[in-house]
Order: sequence, then structure tokens, then C-alpha cells
Amino acid sequence: MQFFSTRDQGRRVTSSEAIVQGLSDEGGLFVPESFPQVDAKAICDLEYPAMAAAVLKEYLTDYDPAFLAEAAAKTYGDAFGGKAGYLAPVEGDTWALELWHGPTCAFKDYALQLMPKLLVEAKHNLNHTEKTLILVATSGDTGKAALDGYHDISGVEIAVFYPTGGTSEIQRLQMATQEGANVAVYAVRGNFDDAQTGVKRVFADKAIAAQLAQRNIHLSSANSINWGRLVPQIVYYFAAYAQLVKAGKISFGQEVDFCVPTGNFGDILAGYYAKRMGLPVGRLVCASNKNNVLTDFLRTGTYTAKRTFYKTSSPSMDILVSSNLERLLYHVTGSDAEVASLMSRLNQEGSYTVRPETLAAIQETFACGYAEEDQVAREIRTRWEKDGYLCDTHTAVAFHVAREQKREGVPMVVLSTASPFKFPRSVLAALGQAAPENDFEAMQSLEQSTGRTAPASLACLRQKAERFDAVIDPAEIAGVALSYQE
Ligand SMILES: *Cc1c(COP(=O)(O)O)cnc(C)c1O
Repeated sequence: MQFFSTRDQGRRVTSSEAIVQGLSDEGGLFVPESFPQVDAKAICDLEYPAMAAAVLKEYLTDYDPAFLAEAAAKTYGDAFGGKAGYLAPVEGDTWALELWHGPTCAFKDYALQLMPKLLVEAKHNLNHTEKTLILVATSGDTGKAALDGYHDISGVEIAVFYPTGGTSEIQRLQMATQEGANVAVYAVRGNFDDAQTGVKRVFADKAIAAQLAQRNIHLSSANSINWGRLVPQIVYYFAAYAQLVKAGKISFGQEVDFCVPTGNFGDILAGYYAKRMGLPVGRLVCASNKNNVLTDFLRTGTYTAKRTFYKTSSPSMDILVSSNLERLLYHVTGSDAEVASLMSRLNQEGSYTVRPETLAAIQETFACGYAEEDQVAREIRTRWEKDGYLCDTHTAVAFHVAREQKREGVPMVVLSTASPFKFPRSVLAALGQAAPENDFEAMQSLEQSTGRTAPASLACLRQKAERFDAVIDPAEIAGVALSYQE
């Protein structure tokens, strides 16, 4: 399996190269040249780690399959407390795929606990001896999940940039207290797009790359623009489907819809890959918060990033430039020239419009909707009072949209992307309780009022010393990158 750039099919690389490089030189994203066709029924019979190995080996064909099997077994065993890909009943034939049982309590652990192993092995496959400097722009969850995955990995340095005030206090502390000799964390003035644009500029700057290369340092990304981030996420769509089959809720071959709380379009795109590989996925429902740029796009075919940016209670979805949509555009149009032209229009004019047939092809698979802030709060409260199901703000966005888009007789799986205890003040307020200013007091109140226990990795943050307090401007990100030495 080879990979090529969404903006230039001539740039072909192996999976190891795609993972080491992150982004193609001219700014495109790496996509697989085809969708491997698998025996989905056989994969559904496997336990999670073996299922992961089976999916990974279809794409990472220049990796030793024995290495992939071992890496998957190490990653998805104890670290997820035996709950990798756990499907919880909510009501009727609506289910929650709880993806937050990993070490940092967000779904991004699925990719970022595995990716460091994939990166080290990719360098080994390619005989690379350079130091890898990973730059991460984060709206909260990616940063911590990447820090947890990469800390003290040899041959790797990682610097994380998050927007000031764009994360919850718990998320900020998760990052500021990160241990490890090879980690650094910076608050960036502005919103997530400012941080992400700053990091993307560094990746696109040839002069920076040349200076670092002289010190034997190579830049790489842990954002979901990296193929190594996407491929592990395909697995849990299989896992969810398999559990519905095993529980006798469906027979193999019946369609299941998935509703995904979406920001950068990585998580939902993984579902698209699962579908194209042969898993009987019905519709993929793209759920947005008040930053509903994707809802507008999926309804009209016009993507407009030039719009008001809202800070919401679901910060990991506060995104105006949804990077992974570019991959879908490539798969649907099959044209690198067309994608390159759309992306250049986005860069220059802040918007683009796809052809009507492109939109129609996308709409065959993707449904969409969004939730306003009051609807998110109401959803949290309703799921708790009616179903006894406690969910976080991001998951609530998806529940709201899932109810609008539910098809009679087709099971709906809602991807539950974060622990409710990661956003305790918003969840408490939604339940109609007075929310203390302090996140930890809110966490305790939430435990008391619901009888649920906060994950230990979150509760213990209160005792941990903060290590990082730097605040910088987006333009200073380049300087941070250049401060690294051999
Ligand atoms: C990152 C994140 C999302 C959005 O996922 P994308 O892959 O960016 O679409 C949703 N919910 C939570 C909790 C997240 O951390």
C-alpha cells in the first residue's frame, strides 16, 4: 500500500514515510492509494488488540505484522482498563461507544498511545537516525494525549501549543503538569485556529526545516493530519459493530449509523474508511457545536471559514478549519488538481464551493446537524434524568444531533469522546446544580450528585506540580521550534 498527497498524486510514499513526514511537502495530506477490502465479519470475531492489528496491517504494509500485533496488544490492553471499544446501552437502539477509558480520558488516546510506537518503528524501517521534533496545536485533548503518548520516547522531542483560555482548567492542568524530559507546553494567545495556523506555518517553512536539518532534527506532527493518527481510529467502528452482532441486536450485514462529535473531521473520517473497507456502516452523522461550519458545508457545498468563532462548552470542537475534510474531498473527487484548487481558494479567500455532484456524493454517506449551547445542556440533563447516562459536553452535541437524525429500525451508535469529569463545571451546570468556580470542587460535586466516580488520572491532578507557564504569540512558535538543538 502506498500513500499519496491529496494535492499531488505524484508524491508517493510508504506508510512509514507518511507517518514520519506527517504532512506532504506542498501542504497536502497523505491518503491511501486504495481502500483495502477486508473480511469484515472475520475481523468482527476478534478481540480488540487482534482487531486493531488486522486493520493496521492493511495500511501499514511496510511494517512487520508481528510488530503491529505486539504494539496493538501492548497499547489496547491494560492502558484502557479492559474497556477498549466499550459499547454502553443508552436507550432503545441508541448506544454510546465510550472512547474515554484510556489514560487521558479522551478518545484521542486510541491513536496517541499507539502512534509513538509506530513512529519509532517507522524511523527504524527507514534507517533514520535523526531526532524527531513533534509540534502539536491542540484545543485541549490532543495535547495531553500526545504528551502522555510521547513522553520519554527516545529520539523524540514534543512541544504542545494550546490557545489561552480555550481549554478547561482540567485540560490545562493535564498539560501543564506533564512529566518527562522531552516535553514542552506553551499557551498561545488567540483561539485554536491561531495556534494551528502558527504550527502549520512552521511546517510549511522550508528555511526552518533546513536550519533544523543541519542539527539533524526533523519536524513531525501528531495532529490528526498525520496518517498514524487516523488509522487506529478505524478499529473502534469495527469493535462497536461487532458488539452489536455479538449481543444479538443485529445480524452481520445490517446497517448501523454512527453519530460523531466532530472538529477536525478525523474521527468521523475513520468511520468512512471503515465503511469503504467493507464494514456495513450506514450513515455517518457529523455533529457540530455552534461552530457549525461543517453543517453548512454538508448542506450547501460551500465551506466558509470566514465567520464568527464561538468559544463553546465543547472546546475540542471549536474549529473553523477542519483539516481532514481535505481527505474526504480527495476520495470523493479522485482529483488532486481539484483538491489543490479548493484548498488554495480556502487559503486565499477563506471559502470554497464544491461541484454539485461532489456534494451529492458526500451526502449519500454523510448526514449532519448541530447543537446550540442551551441544547447541549438540555441534552446532558435529559440523558441523565431519562436514561441514567452521564455524558460530557462533546458527546451531548452528538446525542442531540443523533436524535434528530435517527432512522427507524437502524441502530445508532454515538461516539462518546470524553469523560464527563473532564468538563465538570459545564456538566454540573447542565444538571441544574450550582457549579463551583474550581474544577476540582466541581468534580467532587459531580461525583456526589451522580454517584459516579471521577477517573483517578483526573482527580490526582490537584496534587501535581505545574511545570509549564509560558504564554506566547502565534508568531513565536517558529522561534520555539528553532530553539531545539541536536
Ligand atoms: C478531538 C475531539 C473531538 C473532535 O474530533 P475530530 O477528530 O477533531 O473531529 C470531539 N470530542 C472530543 C472530546 C475531542 O477531544
